[in-house]
Amino acid sequence: MNNRKIIAGNWKMNLDYNESKELIQNIASSEDDFNSDAEVVVFPSMPFLSVFHELLKDNNVRLGAQNCYVKNSGAFTGETSPTQLKSLGVSYCLVGHSERRDYFTEDYELLAKKIKALLEVNITPVFCCGEKLQVRESNVYKEFVMRQIEESLFSLSPQDLSKVVIAYEPVWAIGTGKTATAEQAQEIHHLIRNRIAKDFGEKTANSMSILYGGSMKPDNARELLAQKDIDGGLIGGASLDADMFAQISTSYSE
Ligand code: PEP
Repeated sequence: MNNRKIIAGNWKMNLDYNESKELIQNIASSEDDFNSDAEVVVFPSMPFLSVFHELLKDNNVRLGAQNCYVKNSGAFTGETSPTQLKSLGVSYCLVGHSERRDYFTEDYELLAKKIKALLEVNITPVFCCGEKLQVRESNVYKEFVMRQIEESLFSLSPQDLSKVVIAYEPVWAIGTGKTATAEQAQEIHHLIRNRIAKDFGEKTANSMSILYGGSMKPDNARELLAQKDIDGGLIGGASLDADMFAQISTSYSE
């Protein structure tokens, strides 16, 4: 693994400006507590990105956006383009988080367009996938996640696909305190990597970072991150605490 380690914090629509600033300053000033072998990324709310880019200027922590539109300019009131994000120093952008799929009805096709638009301006898409509890219990969860991957990612070239980060986030584990077991997570991570290898080759599949997301905390991170195909974490709740976030980043086995 080595170059695939990523620890990412999705702050969602939490914290006002002052609270967010305090958190980002805490993270920036405790850089030594973070794992220097892992890329650390934070995804604050959109309005704060510009100021936070300045605050992180001399730091290795990368800045991510939680969303973007598919066009680079035009009459799309309220949207933010990949080009605009790029001009703010954004390096990563979430695509297809389950909350956006659910509350904003984002479908496979839109997500595929967002990924292409981000890659065009050299922003790394973090493509989220994962099944709801009902799908898990109906036992078609493997097919369900494979379809999410195929429909939104498989029209990319191997070079472009290798630039995408995938986050497997079982929806039943997001914000619920109920984590997938390391075996449950590894099963899907392995399937994803194998499925990519089948169509795009082993080299592409092995170069990609596949993160786990869903109630990852300091007390379960070690076991999850020890799995062969789990390269890092996309962390919601626990990323709002700089100490917990740093602890998760140092939970990789030697
Ligand atoms: C998320 O929102 O991507 C997430 C994984 O949240 P939490 O860690 O709070 O479950």
